[in-house]
Amino acid sequence: MINNMTGKTALVTGSGSGIGRSIAIAFGEQGANVIVSDISEKNANETVDIIKKSGGNAFFIECDVSVKDDVQELIIGIEKEFGTLDYACNNAGIHNPEPEYLPDADEDTWDRIISVNLKGVFLCMKYETQLMLKQRSGAIVNISSLSGLLAESGCYAYTASKHGILGLTKTAAYDIAGSGIRINAVCPGAVLTPGLAAAPEKFRQELREKTPVGRLGKPEEVASAVLWLCSDLAGYVTGTGIVIDGGVSTV
Ligand code: NAP
Repeated sequence: MINNMTGKTALVTGSGSGIGRSIAIAFGEQGANVIVSDISEKNANETVDIIKKSGGNAFFIECDVSVKDDVQELIIGIEKEFGTLDYACNNAGIHNPEPEYLPDADEDTWDRIISVNLKGVFLCMKYETQLMLKQRSGAIVNISSLSGLLAESGCYAYTASKHGILGLTKTAAYDIAGSGIRINAVCPGAVLTPGLAAAPEKFRQELREKTPVGRLGKPEEVASAVLWLCSDLAGYVTGTGIVIDGGVSTV
């Protein structure tokens, strides 16, 4: 056990699938009460069942992170049920459906991705910190990406949103540093989630070849970094982004 999270409250947005599901399961394994939040009730309830079957506590609250009222109600619900919010992982995110040629880039795609990935993180942090400030403690981890540090060709909104998440993380961490709340980010490279598992093998092989360690990341490897950042072991860490990319960004 990396930290005593028993009885603490942990929120993970977009935890019906992929990386978010692994993060929610990891919080459950550490004894936290896990709020599994997602737009998909069916997928989120599967995550809740997985956590409960292994002896943890998990609860579903529906929330579209791009909708202010949803986010506000999510945090009000957590306060009513648990009183505090100790850890929050703002994970919900969507990718460009396909790379675009800039002169032909679609404005609706831009608006949707920025709204979920960037406004979503802003709204979540706004309401999470309102509750955390009352208790004068808490840790927030935002899920950025390697595309928050480097260009991802043809994926304008995604790359801009993930760069923006690092800016939001640093600014919020700086402004709130004296209040007992730490705010960090993680920047994963290619992680073998259901989405990537469904992609053509040729694409995965190309990604593996670009990765110095020779394989794709595992969702659990992102989860362990998130849990460490939330734990007291990372008590002096705030305003930073941890790169989890198998060495891709070294060259
Ligand atoms: P995923 O498997 O698609 O999971 C994302 C979850 O978020 C899904 O359950 C999705 O529901 C939900 N979601 C989508 N829009 C939402 C909204 N507006 N409000 C609340 N929930 C919403 O994705 P993933 O690959 O695990 O990615 C998770 C995070 O890691 C994202 O922020 C992503 O950008 C980041 N990331 C992923 C990788 C990677 O290689 N996989 C690498 C770097 C960063 P639906 O399925 O119903 O849409």
